[in-house]
Amino acid sequence: MIVMKFGGTSVGNSKAIQRVGNIIKSRLQRKPVVVVSAVSGITNKLVRLGQIAAEKNHVLATETIEEIRKAHAAIIAELKIGEDAGIQKAFPEAIDYLTDLSDRLLRAGDLVKHLVDELLSIGEYLSANIVSAYLRSVGIPSQFADSRELVSTDSRFGRALVLKDETELNIKEKLLPVVAKSVPVVQGFIGKDSFGRTTTLGRGGSDYSATFIGALIDAEAVEIWSDVDGILTADPSLVPNAKRIRKMSFQEAAELAYFGAKVLHPATLLPAIEKDIPVYVLNSMRPQDGGTKISKLSDGNGGNDGVVKSIAYKEGLIVITVTSSRMLMAHGFMSSIFEIFDRYQTPVDLVSTSEVSVSMTIDQVEHLEDIHRELLRFAQVKIEENKAIISLVGEKMKSTPGMPAKVFGFLTDIPIHLISQGSSEINISFVIDEADLPVVINRLHDKLFSGTLNPELFG
Ligand code: ADP
Ligand code: ASP
Ligand code: MG
Repeated sequence: MIVMKFGGTSVGNSKAIQRVGNIIKSRLQRKPVVVVSAVSGITNKLVRLGQIAAEKNHVLATETIEEIRKAHAAIIAELKIGEDAGIQKAFPEAIDYLTDLSDRLLRAGDLVKHLVDELLSIGEYLSANIVSAYLRSVGIPSQFADSRELVSTDSRFGRALVLKDETELNIKEKLLPVVAKSVPVVQGFIGKDSFGRTTTLGRGGSDYSATFIGALIDAEAVEIWSDVDGILTADPSLVPNAKRIRKMSFQEAAELAYFGAKVLHPATLLPAIEKDIPVYVLNSMRPQDGGTKISKLSDGNGGNDGVVKSIAYKEGLIVITVTSSRMLMAHGFMSSIFEIFDRYQTPVDLVSTSEVSVSMTIDQVEHLEDIHRELLRFAQVKIEENKAIISLVGEKMKSTPGMPAKVFGFLTDIPIHLISQGSSEINISFVIDEADLPVVINRLHDKLFSGTLNPELFG
């Protein structure tokens, strides 16, 4: 069995869905489980619809629902699947439900979290039903397999955590029998809590859906089909001449995903690492091109450890610096700081300490005020906004002599706020002003990826 996940652009219009049909057809002998994202742009529209409804803007809400309806109606018409029994039921039901949810948010006048997740889930519900109906229409036996019956989560709406044991049971009971006789199409990004309420796994979460389903069915591979040729040496929207990386280790890819390379959700690699399942990142517009293979390092890096493979970045960060003379020689100071972040469920990315101060970066601002107030009880606190982390990732790079000197040597005119070599061997990260991001990324990319590159690794 394999899991094939198609992102928003890969199911973004009727032509794209036809390409997806051909790609799935080429892998039928490998017993695919298909995971899909919402049609591109639809999740953003649904987020917006939630906000509009909560602001009680009835007219704009109605218009937005109509836009969403029309976008899907056009795809259904172009694919000629309007007569499919699944679509005849799912499409009108989904639009009615959207209207109902929007009305409930309008009445509440508030972004009620479980209603918002319910609203967001309509995007994947529609795309999964459409892809499944299209497969049937071209003679591939297929069935919509509702992720709410499969993926059990906790009740953290907007970023729910998957409950592994329950999900495993559901998948064995309800998904595996379907794979035996047809191609199941499952919504990515969506689960259900123990009260039966719909949950979402965080933006971009369909990648994670694909790998944890892959791990639970012991898939031989997980394919992430997107709109890029694989994992590239940098984000192509910032660095137009970024190059494809042909192969990388699980740890390298996990680090890249964690430090912002949007092509993979941060948690994507964890289930694959646990079960040692190779993950391929591929371009659904050029399926024959090979993409990036992510696997255990022993698969071979061709003796090229020590090379920077990719540059990732995360924007919109906040640096919090806590200073207290009480910190000098005092044990327990660190734990009292981190206990506060823990209590407010706010992850810290980078940490750097000096004798009397500790600086940390966070990207979730939801509880910033509370955290600030509590820290002020025992220390001085400085908060700096609009920062970005840049991370250079490559196996054993850190132990390559002269690497940090080389990197920072290129940036002598750029203010650098915080540096971390990571506890792993494979990451050098530092914090800069967000405004310097394009210059820094492009300069580093030019310096680190110019000249002849090893064709086994890049290209
Ligand atoms: P999908 O809808 O298929 O999940 P995403 O938009 O979530 O696609 O992710 C793909 C995008 O990730 C690319 O279009 C690209 O702009 C961005 N990206 C950021 N960093 C990288 C990188 N290192 N390699 C490839 N793509 C990247
Ligand atoms: N549709 C969701 C989003 O846009 C999930 C995903 O695409 O992975 O965030
Ligand atoms: Mg994505």
